[in-house]
Amino acid sequence: MVRSPALATRAVHAGRDDLTDLGVHAVPLDLSTTYPARDSAAEAARLDVFATGEQPSGYPIYGRVANPTVQRFEAALAELEGCQAAVAFATGMAALSGCLLAAVAAGRPHVVGVRPLYGTSDHLLDSGLLGIRVSWVAAAGQVAAALRGDTGLVVVESPANPTLTEIDLSVLAADCGEVPLLVDNTFATPVLQRPAEHGARLVLHSATKFLGGHGDVMGGIVACDEDRARTLRQIRYATGAILHPLAGYLLLRGLATLPVRVRAASTTAAELADRLAAHPRVSAVHYPARRPGRPAGQLDGGGALVSFEVTGDARAVVSAVRLITPTVSLGSVDTLIQHPASLTHRILAAADRQASGISDRLLRMSVGLEDVEDLWTDLDQALTTHPEEGHP
Ligand SMILES: *Cc1c(COP(=O)(O)O)cnc(C)c1O
Repeated sequence: MVRSPALATRAVHAGRDDLTDLGVHAVPLDLSTTYPARDSAAEAARLDVFATGEQPSGYPIYGRVANPTVQRFEAALAELEGCQAAVAFATGMAALSGCLLAAVAAGRPHVVGVRPLYGTSDHLLDSGLLGIRVSWVAAAGQVAAALRGDTGLVVVESPANPTLTEIDLSVLAADCGEVPLLVDNTFATPVLQRPAEHGARLVLHSATKFLGGHGDVMGGIVACDEDRARTLRQIRYATGAILHPLAGYLLLRGLATLPVRVRAASTTAAELADRLAAHPRVSAVHYPARRPGRPAGQLDGGGALVSFEVTGDARAVVSAVRLITPTVSLGSVDTLIQHPASLTHRILAAADRQASGISDRLLRMSVGLEDVEDLWTDLDQALTTHPEEGHP
């Protein structure tokens, strides 16, 4: 029996299988907005096919329909997630919007969301902007009771942002029955977790984070079966949220180093989580691999994010770091730290933040590729010098 290539191998070769036959080594970057053709009748016939969401062979007719460089990134991410297809969008939020519009278009505008979610995802669902009606639940076990006849989607993150709580996806997928389960896999990446193996029908990424990996490209992508991909392509074509070709190029390049980056950062994150747990100024550490009773066989290791609560003013720690970058976002080569209550989850009502475990003392750190001792030196000085409560 031929052994199928490991994920690390596929990350380097997926989406690039034809390059040798093309006689090139780097992926061709196609920036065309339009594709000339002399035979209008033939083009019209192809356009009809594209309009159904299918992707016939040959060049797309117009840059909003599809792009060859972006298609390579889509094929590669689909392969890594173990899905038939993937559809790339301009940002993670555009990708989520596409999934919500698909539910609305199917006449099922009710969505069940498990909190906490990424702050803007929470806002988009809560705002009703796209005609969505949301029911929030605080735990995956409450999803089944919240489903209705018009429920078109269940939306979860695992590990969740910013508390890093995990959901048993196989149990939840069974509870969802016919209703598609969307798992935002931004934090885990396909290196550590492949939600489709556990029954998720839609796997979403903010590609802006680990997939790009260098803090210099925005994108979103949804991996799913070909049926759902057709609908998402129709929506993307009509609403215009396609990924830029240069972003597709950079994201495909990012995938090649994704396994190495994520595993290295996770090893450092685990070590920092242990040291933080023993620090006198740290009152709690939230790190998946250190939690009892986690879902078995789902998230491989703990990931590159560590959240922790401090005894004094958490914002002062963000001000005091010197090597670590004080900023929102995550998944970059450098280590980033931010205060969720002030920034990423500011948009939530204070009561909803508290109910989701996002206290004012919580910090979220996305660990990068620096040396662990250098990171610890910086964290320790920032924690030790930050003012005690009452002496800001
Ligand atoms: C950043 C992020 C998003 C939104 O992605 P953008 O690319 O910023 O639009 C969605 N979900 C999670 C978990 C994120 O971290």
